[in-house]
Amino acid sequence: MTSNENLFERAQAAIPGGVNSPVRAFRSVGGTPLFLVKASGAYVTDSAGREYVDLVASWGPAILGHAHPRVVKVVQDAAARGLSFGASTPAETELAELIAERVAPVEKVRLVSTGTEATMTAIRLARGFTGRELLVKFAGHYHGHSDGLLAAAGSGLATLALPGSAGVTAATAGQTLVLPYNDLDAVRAAFAEHGDNIAAVITEAAAANMGVVAPDPGFNAALADIVHAHGALLIMDEVLTGFRVSSAGYWGLENAYSQSYAPDLFTFGKVIGGGLPVAALGGRAEVMDHLAPLGPVYQAGTLSGNPVAVAAGLETLRLADESVYATLDASALLISEAVSAALSAEGVAHHVQRAGNLFSFVFGEHLAGGARNYDQVLSQEAYRYPAFFQSMLAAGVSLPPSVFEAWFVTAAHDDRAITRILDALPEAAKAAAA
Ligand code: PLP
Repeated sequence: MTSNENLFERAQAAIPGGVNSPVRAFRSVGGTPLFLVKASGAYVTDSAGREYVDLVASWGPAILGHAHPRVVKVVQDAAARGLSFGASTPAETELAELIAERVAPVEKVRLVSTGTEATMTAIRLARGFTGRELLVKFAGHYHGHSDGLLAAAGSGLATLALPGSAGVTAATAGQTLVLPYNDLDAVRAAFAEHGDNIAAVITEAAAANMGVVAPDPGFNAALADIVHAHGALLIMDEVLTGFRVSSAGYWGLENAYSQSYAPDLFTFGKVIGGGLPVAALGGRAEVMDHLAPLGPVYQAGTLSGNPVAVAAGLETLRLADESVYATLDASALLISEAVSAALSAEGVAHHVQRAGNLFSFVFGEHLAGGARNYDQVLSQEAYRYPAFFQSMLAAGVSLPPSVFEAWFVTAAHDDRAITRILDALPEAAKAAAA
């Protein structure tokens, strides 16, 4: 067995920053990233053989817990039949049908491999369908790393954005408008100024990439009204929330509370691949049929609809019945309330941010009522989290390595796993208070 430290040193010589996705680098919490060798149920095991209760769940996909035996079995069977055909398979249609069955506004689905591809394609499709150029997104929302989505807000409302990463051209970023979240007046102002050239608004169904920030009640429905009044499309990004917060995603949760609205396009990822690379965009047939080969909007992928990955996704969705969602909801509530109680006992001012069974925490007296947008999230006492995180890690609990990430429970978090989390909290809360 090798230590995480040795492996990280070696990785840094071969891989930029030693990681293949930046947040894995533990930059915001300090210390050495975990090098995992095994994941099973609610637990992950590092290269030194240390087992942790996992509240990252591969950043969302593992709703059933890691390596669910039935998912592993279908993956093994599918692999034995062939790893990739580069041709259509019956299972792809089954997955498309299942997604459309559960999310009513979706009539047709195109499978891709990553959430980034799904949002990138949805935006190209919206532009191709409307013949317009501009895209509206909200500050603090993450939709993957395609160029036009790595745009930082310029000053003031309805200002065209500046590049949010080196390598993104000003011309590309300038086609994205970045608005404050949960601010319908800002949306109205943007449409008043640029309405006839806005192709689409893209929004996380509930923001969960700046920590969790739920939409205000009625925000998504009002957004749909404004967007549609101006002939633009609404792209609901459910890559993270889809099939995690309910069997019909966050859209399903809101519609259950009769906030009825119909996005034109949805994007999915994470859960629909069950831990393997599957993502999708779906929506009204009239819009989706603009994709090649029927329509003029090009999109393709050598590994799109990969048979092994689709098998994992299909089995995961089939196993995710209402009892799974009830378990996720109950565990999320229990854990988040226990964290909150431990923090309160140490006098650490905080607020539990929730969107369905997703949750995170913002720290600071001034945020006692919660954070509704990116500026508020950034204003928190973020320095409290690294000490909390490291204390939990030392006690054998792996949390998201940033205060700006959601916590993910799985249906495999049983009493033993939850007890280990609860036992670790008093020390961690003390560390956060210091
Ligand atoms: N959209 C949302 C809401 C996400 O949370 C993510 C990833 O975290 C993406 C898109 C990008 O997905 P991927 O990492 O599969 O490219």
